[in-house]
Amino acid sequence: MFDLVLQGGTVVDPVDGVYPGDVAVRGGRVAAILEPGASADAKGKVSAKGKHIFPGCVEPHTHIGYARNFADDVESETGSAAIGGVTTVMSFHRHYQSAQPKPYAEDLPGLIETINSRAHVDMALHFGILIEDQMLELEKYIAAGVSSFKFYMAYRGADGKTTGMINECDDGILFEGFKTIGRFPHARACVHCENTEIIGRYTKRIKAEGRDGLAAWNAARPAFAEAEHVRRAAFFAELTNCHLYYVHIGAREGLEEALKHRQRYDKLTIETCIHYLTLTKDDEHVGNLAKVTPPIRTKSDKERIWEGLMKGEISTVATDHCCVCRAQKQGDIWKAMPGFPGMATMLPVMLSEGHHRRGMSLQQIAQVTAGNAAKAFNVYPQKGTIRVGADADLSIVDVNLERVVDAKNLGSASDFSLQDGQTLKGWPVATYLRGTLVARDGKLVAKPGQGRFIKR
Ligand SMILES: [Zn+2]
Repeated sequence: MFDLVLQGGTVVDPVDGVYPGDVAVRGGRVAAILEPGASADAKGKVSAKGKHIFPGCVEPHTHIGYARNFADDVESETGSAAIGGVTTVMSFHRHYQSAQPKPYAEDLPGLIETINSRAHVDMALHFGILIEDQMLELEKYIAAGVSSFKFYMAYRGADGKTTGMINECDDGILFEGFKTIGRFPHARACVHCENTEIIGRYTKRIKAEGRDGLAAWNAARPAFAEAEHVRRAAFFAELTNCHLYYVHIGAREGLEEALKHRQRYDKLTIETCIHYLTLTKDDEHVGNLAKVTPPIRTKSDKERIWEGLMKGEISTVATDHCCVCRAQKQGDIWKAMPGFPGMATMLPVMLSEGHHRRGMSLQQIAQVTAGNAAKAFNVYPQKGTIRVGADADLSIVDVNLERVVDAKNLGSASDFSLQDGQTLKGWPVATYLRGTLVARDGKLVAKPGQGRFIKR
């Protein structure tokens, strides 16, 4: 007897491909994949006829608790994730809002309790390593199930002051951190690559010229400054046998540099984000709303990033989701708070722009939105795949459904979407977390607290 069978749909798996099959669930896991139409004893049967069944998206890069308190953000933003077919949210946790960084070991039990009581979908944490004392605790964090860490090579000195961030991560902390991480094959060092000294000077100059807008923001944080750090981080990673995960690569030069190094050292994984695939510095209709670091680049960068994704050079797509509101985006580009939400539209954008417009296969969409991130961060095959034994994190998707984006319907506590007003083709119509229906037709249907902290 199964708990649930999704009948008549087409399974989309990152490894096994696209095929007709009925997905049977028991005890929160995939119990069997049956021949289409096979008779099955089940407490619940749901028709997925004419629809595709994707593994729930694994979103590797968000900032929960970035602009308001962690607990409220966990609840609202994982709700937004559920609506968008995202069933695992990984958050780059650090001390936000100018708080003095301190070691995380003391905070971790509270964070886990908040996740287990408030989250709509499963969550994992990465820790930002901003100070020496955090770096010295890396092994402790790994033992507790937080096995990936973000090193901000940007945001120091003058550049750091612009964001109100206290970041003492110099090359010494970075290198020592890589050495520890390199001893654990499943652990990852994530790096935000932007040369902080160069950016500090460029920003001062571009600001003094009275420039404003996304193009000015891009000019202040040039792509070569990203590429230089990509190179330096790869060099240190190779010396320490540390597996590196490049977050948010959106510039051609950064990508080429990473690929060059990967020819000699293969433990390099590359992520890009939805905004680098959809916007350019000339898209002034979004203006400050699209302020982000590293900046939105040029059209030619955008095309190169698409090419890299379609060729498999880039493994994962993320959103860098931050719950930021319009009120925090006022003033000129220098004053506006960086960041924006994105989880609820990640899969629809990939289906619209990737599948329908550019011909990416559905299997590839499942790879870059689920399977590859699960593999990179050591939750595969529990997450990111539809096969027997995996968690029944499933998203029923209507790949031909067209819907106009309106932030009001996306569940986030933010009040805008970078896709507001756009028609996207391909939407999740039901999201299951370990076999429990958590969202249907764009609405949450389960109470918060379904989600669990995932140890990795
Ligand atoms: Zn980020």
